[in-house]
Amino acid sequence: MARVIVVGASTGGLPMAYDIKKTLGSEHQVTVVSNTDTFSFVPSNPWVAVGWRTAEDITFQLEGPLRRKEIEFIHCAAAHIKAEQNQLVLADGRVLNYDYLVLATGPKLAFDEVEGLGPDGFTESICTTGHAMRAYEKWQHFCENPGHAVVGAVPGVSCFGPAYEFALIMDKDLRKRKIRDRVPMTFITPEPYIGHMGLGGVGDSKTLLESELRQRHINWITNASVSKVTAETLYVHEHDMQGNVIKEHELPNNFSMLMPPFKGVDLFKEAPEGLTNPRGFVTVDKYNRNATWKNIYALGVGIAIPPVESTPLAVGTPKTGLMIESMVTAICHNIRDELAGKEISEEATWNTVCLADMGDTGVAFVALPQIPPRNVTWARKGKWVHLAKVAFEKYFIRNMKNGNAEPVYQKYIMKAFGITRLRSD
Ligand SMILES: Cc1cc2nc3c(=O)[nH]c(=O)nc-3n(C[C@H](O)[C@H](O)[C@H](O)COP(=O)(O)OP(=O)(O)OC[C@H]3O[C@@H](n4cnc5c(N)ncnc54)[C@H](O)[C@@H]3O)c2cc1C
Repeated sequence: MARVIVVGASTGGLPMAYDIKKTLGSEHQVTVVSNTDTFSFVPSNPWVAVGWRTAEDITFQLEGPLRRKEIEFIHCAAAHIKAEQNQLVLADGRVLNYDYLVLATGPKLAFDEVEGLGPDGFTESICTTGHAMRAYEKWQHFCENPGHAVVGAVPGVSCFGPAYEFALIMDKDLRKRKIRDRVPMTFITPEPYIGHMGLGGVGDSKTLLESELRQRHINWITNASVSKVTAETLYVHEHDMQGNVIKEHELPNNFSMLMPPFKGVDLFKEAPEGLTNPRGFVTVDKYNRNATWKNIYALGVGIAIPPVESTPLAVGTPKTGLMIESMVTAICHNIRDELAGKEISEEATWNTVCLADMGDTGVAFVALPQIPPRNVTWARKGKWVHLAKVAFEKYFIRNMKNGNAEPVYQKYIMKAFGITRLRSD
C-alpha cells in the first residue's frame, strides 16, 4: 500500500485528493493536510467583497466529503518537509510518512513587501474569502461615504483577472446603488499595457479591456509600482519601458483593493535543497514532478512558471483553474504509472480559458496554449459569460461537495468552448 499526502485542499488540492483516490483505489491511502478546515470557491471572492455572495454560499467543511471518499483529513498546517526521510512534519509536531507528496499550497500573499499594503495595512484583498468578507465591511462604509477608489495589482503578482473583474464589479455595484457619479476610479497595474494579464495579451484583450475601462470612466496607470500606502494616500510610481520612474502619483485612499505579490508559502522557508526556486515556488518538470525529489509532485499557484516575456516590472504568469485541473490529471496518471512500475509520461496541457465577470456581462479569454505563439487566442464579451460563470460556480461547488473526481473544467468549460483536447489519454 502506498500513502499519498496532498498538502492544501483548495482549487488544486481537493480535486487532486478525489482524483488520486479514485485513480489508485482503496488499496492505497490518501491523506489531505490542510491549514483550513473549509473549502472555499476562490473565483467567487470578488462577489463576496461587494455582498453579492456570503461566505456560506461558497464555502463548505472539508472533513465530511473527504471522509465519505475514504480520504483521511488532517486539519493542521504542514510545517516542514524531510525529503530524505520521506516525512512531512506538521505544525503540531506530528510526523507523517509518505510514499508520494503532492504540494498544492497556493501562494503566500506577500503584503509585507509594500509598506501599508493589505488587510493589516490600508488596502483590501479578495485573495481569500476571509479577506473578501473584510473588504465587504469596508465597502459598505465606503458606499455610505463615497470617495476615490483604487483597484489593481502591484509588481510580483501573477493573477490579473480578478483585479479587472473586481474593478468592473465595483463599477456595477456602484451604479446599482446610484452613487457611481461620486466615485472617481483608478486602475493601477505593473502590466506594460491594459489586458496583458501576464500572458502577453489574449486575442485583442488590450483593446477590449481598455474600451471597458474607458466606457466605465475608470482611469488607469500601467507600468505602475506602489512604494507606500497610508490611510489617506497611495504612493504610485509610473515607469517607462526601461523601468525608470517617469511620474509619481499620489492617489487618495478612500477604498482600495490591490492584489499582493505572490511567493512560496512558509512551508518552503527551509525547503529541502532543489525543491524550490529562490522565490519559494516549487520547481517541477514537464510531469509536474520535482527533479531532485522524484516522489514529490506539485500543482497550482505554488509552482514555478517563468514569465511569458520580459516586462519592465515583475508580471507573473497566471495559473488558472483549467491548467490546474490538467496538472491534477497528469499527476494522478504519473503516480498510478509509477506504482505500476511503468515510465511516467503524462504532461499537463497549459491552456487558459478564463471567464471574467463584469457584474451583468463578462469577458471570456481563451489562450491555447497559454504561452504564445498560440493555436487559438481570443477574448470576447457577452452576457453569456456572466451566466456561464454563475452556473460554473454552482457546478464546481456541488461537485466538490459530492466528492466528484470528474474533470470539471474539461467537462464544463471545454465543452462550452468546443475545445476537445485536455487530457493526453
Ligand atoms: C480572487 C481570485 C479569483 C480567481 N478567479 C479565477 C477564475 O475565475 N478562473 C480561474 O481559472 N482562476 C481564477 N483564479 C486563479 C486560481 O484558479 C486560484 O487562485 C486557485 O484558487 C488556485 O488554487 P491553488 O489550489 O493552487 O491555491 P489556493 O487556492 O491558494 O489554495 C492553497 C491551499 O493550501 C493551503 N495551505 C497553504 N500552506 C499550507 C500548509 N503549510 N499546510 C497546509 N495547507 C496549506 C491554503 O490555506 C489554501 O487553502 C482566481 C484567483 C483569485 C485570487
